Amino acid sequence: MSLFCCGHGAHHPITCIVPPYMLRVLALRGDPRTAEMARTLLKQTERLRDERAELMEAGLPPAQPLGTTAVAPVQDLCCPDRRIHDGQHKAALPGKLVRSEGDGPTGIPDADTAYEAAGQVFSLFAEEYGRNSLDGQGMPLVATVHHRRDYNNSFWNGTQMAYGTGDGKIFRTFLELSVIGHEMAHGVIQHSGGLIYENQSGALNESIADVFGSLSLQRALGQEVHQADWLVGRGILGPGINGAALRSMKAPGTAYSDDLLGQDPQPWHMDHFVTTTDDNGGVHINSGIPNHAFYLFCAYLGGRAWELPGRVWYRALQTLNNPMASFADWADQTMDAAIELTGRGSYETIMLRRAWKLVGIAI
Ligand SMILES: [Zn+2]
Repeated sequence: MSLFCCGHGAHHPITCIVPPYMLRVLALRGDPRTAEMARTLLKQTERLRDERAELMEAGLPPAQPLGTTAVAPVQDLCCPDRRIHDGQHKAALPGKLVRSEGDGPTGIPDADTAYEAAGQVFSLFAEEYGRNSLDGQGMPLVATVHHRRDYNNSFWNGTQMAYGTGDGKIFRTFLELSVIGHEMAHGVIQHSGGLIYENQSGALNESIADVFGSLSLQRALGQEVHQADWLVGRGILGPGINGAALRSMKAPGTAYSDDLLGQDPQPWHMDHFVTTTDDNGGVHINSGIPNHAFYLFCAYLGGRAWELPGRVWYRALQTLNNPMASFADWADQTMDAAIELTGRGSYETIMLRRAWKLVGIAI
């Protein structure tokens, strides 16, 4: 039995924030307790994937093909419909409903953080891009905090978000806005025609989730491009781990360097593209390349990244119509979107071409 953490079934993936190669390193290098935790986590996630496959067979609707997702006009957008559950450290989902839309704080810090963060991500998509929730049709935002005991991961399972607390050693929390935005963006991608979760299209799926995760955080903090840290999962690593975050869009490959976790393996240029069968073809590794292209595009333009650059990426996702897109296909799509939004030959399109070129993709 293979022990992949996430996305083993490329068409109906469980998309986790912590990639399987990190867990496998922990299973090899960790002390007996850590190694056991990592092995258990790998097995649990595999079981979760099987359950998800059963749900799909039981008639859960698959992700809609592109073009069928209704994007509500802006004036119809109102409010999110948040439903935050307490998993009470058990495996069952969604767990006990503790805060519905409009309810006051629960006093459960993780539940209240998940509620506020889901609102901020909803607001990014609604107010900046005119999208009504993850499916474009106002679907409820269902989340579970305290999923399992000492659970070192968070995921989107196709219908909801789930967040572990971490074991306090390797991970201290997963309730951080870029992580929450990342998981919710997987829902948006799923309902925007999907990007198959393997190889380059899978790395694009991961990258686009990082982009909107980071934009959720930057917008909530009111940060311009040069004020933002461009980290995904800042502060979620445990106190004994030498690292700032899970990934860096500004400097892929530098997010952590640790005796236990090893070195952040992300490349930023096509010359260092990693060919592997691990991690669904390196979806959490090679995402560094399109991540860095987005960062460069934003850095060249300055200002607020969730405005024009975010709109370009969002429009490209809505018009892509190619679930198996390569990085080059995606770069072309972003260029088409930039031309539509700013005109052919605009400064923005010139900077976008330059950004892709710097990571080794000519358009
Ligand atoms: Zn992901």
